[in-house]
Amino acid sequence: MLTWSGESGDPHAADVAAVADALGVDVERGLDASEAVARLAASGPNELIVDAPDPLRRRLLRQFADPLILFLLVAVAIALLAWWAEGASSVPVDAIVIAAIIVVNAALGLVQEVRADHALKALADLSQPMSTVLREGALVRVRSAALVAGDVVVLAEGDRVGADGRLFQAHSLQASEASLTGESAPVRKQTAALPQATSLGDRSNMVFAGTAIGRGTGRAVVTETGMRTELGGVADLLSRTEEAPTPLQREVSRLGRALGIIVIGIALVVIITLTLVQDARTPADLVAILLLGVSLAVAAVPEGLPALLSVVLAVGAQRMAKRNAIVRSLPSVETLGSASVICTDKTGTLTTGEMTITRVLTSSGTADLIGGGREDPSGELLVDGRPAAPGPLLEDARRAIRIGALANDAQFVDGDDGRHAEGDSTDVAFLVAAHMLARPAEEVSAFERIASAPFTSERKRMSTVHRDRAGAAFVFCKGAPDVLIALCTRIRRGADELALTDTLRARLIGEVEALSAEGFRTLALAYRELSDSAPAPATQGSSASYEEDLVLVGVVGITDPPRPEVGEAIREAHDAGLRVVMITGDHPMTAVRVAADLGIAPSGAEAVAGMQLAALDEAQLRHVSATARVYARVAPGDKLRIVRALQSEGEIVAMTGDGVNDAPALKAADIGIAMGRTGTEVTKDAAKLILADDNFATIVAAVREGRVIFDNIRKFLRYLLSSNMGEVLTIFFGVVFAGVLGITQASSESLVLPLLATQVLWINLVTDSGPALAMGMDPDVDDVMHRVPRGRSEHAIDGAMWAAIVSTGMTMSVTALLTMDLFLPGGLLPGGSDTLAVARTAGFTTLVFAALLTAFNSRSATSSVLSGLFANRWLWGSVLLGVGLQIAVVYVPVLQVAFGTAPLQAAHWAACVGMASFVVWVEESRKAIMRRAAVRVSTDLEDE
Ligand code: ATP
Repeated sequence: MLTWSGESGDPHAADVAAVADALGVDVERGLDASEAVARLAASGPNELIVDAPDPLRRRLLRQFADPLILFLLVAVAIALLAWWAEGASSVPVDAIVIAAIIVVNAALGLVQEVRADHALKALADLSQPMSTVLREGALVRVRSAALVAGDVVVLAEGDRVGADGRLFQAHSLQASEASLTGESAPVRKQTAALPQATSLGDRSNMVFAGTAIGRGTGRAVVTETGMRTELGGVADLLSRTEEAPTPLQREVSRLGRALGIIVIGIALVVIITLTLVQDARTPADLVAILLLGVSLAVAAVPEGLPALLSVVLAVGAQRMAKRNAIVRSLPSVETLGSASVICTDKTGTLTTGEMTITRVLTSSGTADLIGGGREDPSGELLVDGRPAAPGPLLEDARRAIRIGALANDAQFVDGDDGRHAEGDSTDVAFLVAAHMLARPAEEVSAFERIASAPFTSERKRMSTVHRDRAGAAFVFCKGAPDVLIALCTRIRRGADELALTDTLRARLIGEVEALSAEGFRTLALAYRELSDSAPAPATQGSSASYEEDLVLVGVVGITDPPRPEVGEAIREAHDAGLRVVMITGDHPMTAVRVAADLGIAPSGAEAVAGMQLAALDEAQLRHVSATARVYARVAPGDKLRIVRALQSEGEIVAMTGDGVNDAPALKAADIGIAMGRTGTEVTKDAAKLILADDNFATIVAAVREGRVIFDNIRKFLRYLLSSNMGEVLTIFFGVVFAGVLGITQASSESLVLPLLATQVLWINLVTDSGPALAMGMDPDVDDVMHRVPRGRSEHAIDGAMWAAIVSTGMTMSVTALLTMDLFLPGGLLPGGSDTLAVARTAGFTTLVFAALLTAFNSRSATSSVLSGLFANRWLWGSVLLGVGLQIAVVYVPVLQVAFGTAPLQAAHWAACVGMASFVVWVEESRKAIMRRAAVRVSTDLEDE
């Protein structure tokens, strides 16, 4: 395995050449792909091994750590003890059945946990950090985990450094190393060797895994990867962060605890009533009562819910990923569904980001640039539809494009599908335009670049310093017209440089605004020749000080068409009660026009400009943010203020971003959204959601998915809690009203129970599980995008849902008990002559059927059971399986012994189905009343 051997000390103390030599790499070419593969095989992946995952055995054991399961284990022990005390003559049926149910339950829990883990792992793989490396002379993006010692990594602003490396190129490079050294100020980087004794924080010629590039560019040779990096050295300090439970998970566990306490009360009442009223005498009776009490507890507490929740959230997140929305933590799946404002960038998110220069404004007139586009690299400048004649206009238009191609970081690369320009889309537009006109592109090669001041969203411009063949030095500058025109003192016209008078300036600004109002993105181009007396620019220093006294050459109009699907997505968002807010660095006029075209804001609406924002205090900003739809010419810092203002107005904010400076705003937002393609690694790190396709429509799709998932969770909560309530009430009323219902009279035994402990466990842990899982995959029954966003404090289980749960639980228990009564002699419904075992089996079956039917009821709080009845085949499958299992438990002899059932006749089955169907009639009536009330409320509101 090849690593830095350190013969001459650590890499920071050695020359780059020595480091490259020792690591066997030519820094101009990088490693060969095959060599990189071989080194990766030898060194292992470049990953930190923090904690090994628990082995399956331990995870299985963990399933038994649930208090309720422990409760059941105690029940098994009691049952065994009683069986032993009674002479151990027969088979200990109860103990075996309960034990089997515990095992099945643990296995189910484990399967769900593993499934959730797989889904999460697949998601994590999708948002893996990436690095740019030089291999075989070409730049390639690889997963950071595939970096090896000797790789040449190429670093740029916003990158997360993938491994430790020795720098051999650094242009204005700064890294923020707080994650490693705790030092919050950015560290300036350089390439010269340092003394061996230099401390970690001062090793300015090294970059370290896990740190972030704040600005500039650079290249480094990887010296260490994985656990051998400096970060690896402190990895044990970074113990794996357990994902905090989501608000919903917390609500469910709170609910579990509350139900646990309530049920202990009910269980005590049942136990005491049974012991006193039914005169239980034998130890077997006491054990049966105790077991029933325990199963009552198991029935009432939704112990399977936490596992079910994580599966549904994780599987939902996986479904979102298929639609290009990669969620980085489970709670965001929930938060997404409750978002109330989406703040979005314009360029590349609402628009395609495919920029084409189509117009050039100069001091002597306007020319249109037409051409075959990216595929056909020929074009020409037209004036009033005719090819531009030689003269100042043609000259200045070409000069403007040439400057744009010089102050430029894009480049042509040969890809699989031919030659194409790569880089920032504005830069690409200039490069392509220069090549369409041929001449500017040829002229570019006459200039040698000697310095640059990169584009940033704050500066809104980019400049480069070049020397021509005659040795003269020039500054070339392109940027936002409002910024650049202010830095110009002259304007070019053909061969002359004229003074930029106030009148001329005002006229020009007017023309730029008119162009922007048509939706064009505008950029100005300017230059200055540096006199010999000017200090020679440092090779790669900042040329900011040269950005003054410039000569304006022209302004270009760039088209960047809206993405076709965005208009529809915005309509959908508005229907769903979401406000869409555009926050862009672009010109206010351009922003307003695009916003109007897309339906974000009415035409004629005003944009809040960055300058205005700066003048507002927090209270004023809150006021403005309550209605503003478009912010323009904003700096990244403004985004953070806007998020905070919206949040303090009670909004749940989703916010997009791509640049490294957007990271704080993304962190502060409820849902930070990073661009998967154009976003930097640091921004992705700060985000909760990554858009694989950078597309606004994907955000709306993710919100829809988030709402569907939340709805599905409510569906199975409604289902499981209703069914549990039904079981608890059946036992409670069955015990309390045993005499009235004819249950006690039916048997000569001292103890008669309405349901057996094993039967309760059967419903709860066997027949209920399938439908609950299936409901987690339910499609959208009520159109989730036609309601307002869920409030921040809204509970998953609200008053209306409790009402539905109680009414269904009551119906289930009453129908189950009446079914028993129907077949027993005496009681409220006379005429029965069956044994208690048969009647109890009928009651038990009614309860199971009612629960299975409740699964269909639970799919909507208001819509009829018929709406989308056949949409979920998993649900039908699981319900049919439940019916099959129930038939088996009634007829298969072994199961009859295990669950105390007796065979039923056709009349019994008919009664069971008929009685169970009441849950549907009752729920349908309740929903119809609710729907009518809702209509009345909404017409009343409309009348007002
Ligand atoms: P959004 O914020 O919606 O992505 P944007 O791309 O216009 O919009 P910024 O990237 O902050 O926002 O750019 C702000 C302004 O800076 C642009 O309107 C443009 O005038 C100018 N600009 C953009 N890219 C460049 C570039 N590569 N070189 C020079 N100037 C640029």
